[in-house]
Amino acid sequence: MTTASDELFAALEADLAERRAAHLYRRRPVVSTPQGPTVTVDGVTLSNFCSNDYLGLAAHPRIVAAAQAGAERWGVGSGASHLVCGHQAAHEACERKLAAFVGKPAALTLATGYLANLAVITALVGREDAVFADKLNHASLNDACLLSRATFKRYAHNDLAMLERQLADTPARRKLIAVDAVFSMDGDTAPLAALLALAERHDAWLFIDDAHGFGVLGDGRGSLAELGLASPRIIYMATLGKAAGVAGAFVAAEEIVIDYLINMARPYIYTTAAPALIADAVSASVDVIAQEAWRRERLQTHIATLREGLAAGGCMLMPSSTAIQPLQMPSSEAALALSAALRERGHWVAAIRPPTVPTPRLRLTLSAAHDAAQVQQLVEDVLALLPNVLRSLS
Ligand code: PMP
Repeated sequence: MTTASDELFAALEADLAERRAAHLYRRRPVVSTPQGPTVTVDGVTLSNFCSNDYLGLAAHPRIVAAAQAGAERWGVGSGASHLVCGHQAAHEACERKLAAFVGKPAALTLATGYLANLAVITALVGREDAVFADKLNHASLNDACLLSRATFKRYAHNDLAMLERQLADTPARRKLIAVDAVFSMDGDTAPLAALLALAERHDAWLFIDDAHGFGVLGDGRGSLAELGLASPRIIYMATLGKAAGVAGAFVAAEEIVIDYLINMARPYIYTTAAPALIADAVSASVDVIAQEAWRRERLQTHIATLREGLAAGGCMLMPSSTAIQPLQMPSSEAALALSAALRERGHWVAAIRPPTVPTPRLRLTLSAAHDAAQVQQLVEDVLALLPNVLRSLS
């Protein structure tokens, strides 16, 4: 007779075996260097084309120094949640700075972007309400919508006519549209001005996740600044572990919205505050984002080099003008094979597969920290390897 625990473990093993057979099994590569354009991963040194460190700030000396000074000043632990005793002057100063930077009256910092999305959506909508979400939104927005227990409607990617029908046909006490400003796996953008117009017409909140726009677009101030959009009904969220190079996230909105989140958002209330040294590092990062415009210019140059170089060789990337440049592949197996072949040539490029995305792809991401030769070498190697990979699997 088997024991109960054998059966429990066997069920996990069966699920993992299924993942392996479908080329969907994942493991975590170990990076033994600081994050940057070149990293050592599992003992091998590679050009890094899979990080979200778009501006190359993850190991920026000024930001590192701010974190070190923060550790000296505050220690490393925040001790408790923000509402108990964990909210320190560093958090307060950082929130003021972030709010001013993105042009909103108030801001709230949270330990991660995932948590920020859970916090906003579960606080603002509940059983009697409805949320409307783009099909390609980040998983954390989807999880937040499910957790909120609101009626959850997903519209086809960027399909405003479908969204408008859903808004008109869904009875609810309160409506909220939730959308990625820059889609994390496709690199394209949401039509934010048109979404704001729809939100106004249907008196809905517009919640914008700018994880991949903040720091990069709008002189670093993000997607709203890029488009010159402002409205009290917009609730803005951006993460601080990508272009800002540190960790965490912030929500920027009207004072009353922030006050409401502080009082009502369980994922904010029931978690320990991030260490104050992180807030100091983020404050330093905002200064660097504002002052070092050359990083955004260099990133744009790399994006153009990659897109034009691959197109000239007959390889079309997906329509994206951001740092996220996906190359669609016919199968998960082909995505893994090209990723492995590129690795042999010294490039680290992530193969992204279902269920993270509907269709397999290589997600190439660029950073201001890359040098021109790295990007050029990537172009040459993708063009050289892709036909072989496709031929060997066909
Ligand atoms: N939103 C989007 C669009 C993201 O890409 C991510 C991170 N991959 C998150 C939210 C979550 O942010 P964090 O990593 O800080 O939890």
